[in-house]
Amino acid sequence: MATTREIVNPAAEIQARTFDVRKIREDFPILRQKMHGKPLVYLDNAATSQKPQAVIDALTHYYTQYNANIHRGVYLLSERATQAYEDARIKLQHFLNAAEQREIIYVRGCTEGINLVAQTYGRKHLGAGDEILITAMEHHSNIVPWQMLCEEKGCRLRVGPINDRGELLMDEFEKLINDRTRFVSVAHVSNALGTINPVKQIIELAHARNIPVLVDGAQASPHMKVDVQALDCDFYAISSHKLFGPTGVGALYGKAKLLESMPPYQGGGDMILSVTFEKTIYNHIPNKFEAGTPNIAGAIGWGAGLDYLARIGMENIASYEHALLTYATEAIGQIPGVRLIGTAREKTGVLSFMLEGIHPHDVGTVLDQEGIAVRTGHHCAQPVMDRFGVPATVRASLAFYNTKQEINALAAGLEHVKAMFA
Ligand SMILES: *Cc1c(COP(=O)(O)O)cnc(C)c1O
Repeated sequence: MATTREIVNPAAEIQARTFDVRKIREDFPILRQKMHGKPLVYLDNAATSQKPQAVIDALTHYYTQYNANIHRGVYLLSERATQAYEDARIKLQHFLNAAEQREIIYVRGCTEGINLVAQTYGRKHLGAGDEILITAMEHHSNIVPWQMLCEEKGCRLRVGPINDRGELLMDEFEKLINDRTRFVSVAHVSNALGTINPVKQIIELAHARNIPVLVDGAQASPHMKVDVQALDCDFYAISSHKLFGPTGVGALYGKAKLLESMPPYQGGGDMILSVTFEKTIYNHIPNKFEAGTPNIAGAIGWGAGLDYLARIGMENIASYEHALLTYATEAIGQIPGVRLIGTAREKTGVLSFMLEGIHPHDVGTVLDQEGIAVRTGHHCAQPVMDRFGVPATVRASLAFYNTKQEINALAAGLEHVKAMFA
């Protein structure tokens, strides 16, 4: 991916030469635990990620040293809280390579980011007969907000199909773009399949017809370098908790011009410049979209997490995980009875699979006894399950603190499951 702004980060370069997963694991206190007497093997990173000590410390530090409400107090404590909260916004700006810090809106998570766009941009600009284009591999968060808009406005949801590997069929997708298409919203990476979508190409296709594009970046952001300017996306939504930060906070990137043209999402404190009973003047972006007291601690903790990631380097994370995925695909894929669901040529570390004749729930329950945490179910992507004709899958999803030994433990665990149900 081309970047407009190459930062030479000496710390990251040192890490690159010495990417030592054992050292990295020491930064994550939760990973030291045992489950049912076995070392915890945490392979549910697509549901939520674990937090490095730096994030936990930042939360504690905020609550012990400078807890106060932001943007209001004239006293030092509140100034310190405001500063840290706004510093984290700048860290997010750099993380996504946004042009301006006011293009970063704090939200509750990726879900709220998408709902914000549907409820503001969507309600303002879409009407009866207009079409919204998504893909067949979306998370429910990138389906339901658009369905709600369609119901209200009489627009129509169109869905780009995927092939048996779980890749978007670009020809079909392109054919679905027409004069009625008013919005495109796609996952950068599928949480159920791991597929990396060609979002840059999708954005170019849509922009050729002046259609704005939202990218759901919940699963891409923890695994690769994201550059919203290089992508030229109009919106990009992410969640802190999937990105090694606290729960309850996320960010929506939006191009300043678009955000300025959009009506507010929620009304309340902080989103106004002045209020009388006759007329309220709304605040500028980003505050216009941040009504009420936000998740101050969460934002600050997230900022510490982004610093931590910058020290390791997203490129280093991506290359380590790529090697681990290759290893895992081989190790798990060769087990007799395993059917991998989602074998895209471009994918992140998600292994969704079926074990022949055994319900995914049973697989997950037995693996848990071995200390192995995997997700079983539809992964908030029921249409994906329907596409592959399965009710559920077992999903092992990787992060940069996972190891080959843990993949070996999963493989051994699956042999154990098979033996139990034989
Ligand atoms: C997790 C996820 C979401 C929703 O994120 P929340 O943090 O639950 O709001 C949306 N899209 C994808 C692809 C996800 O993996």
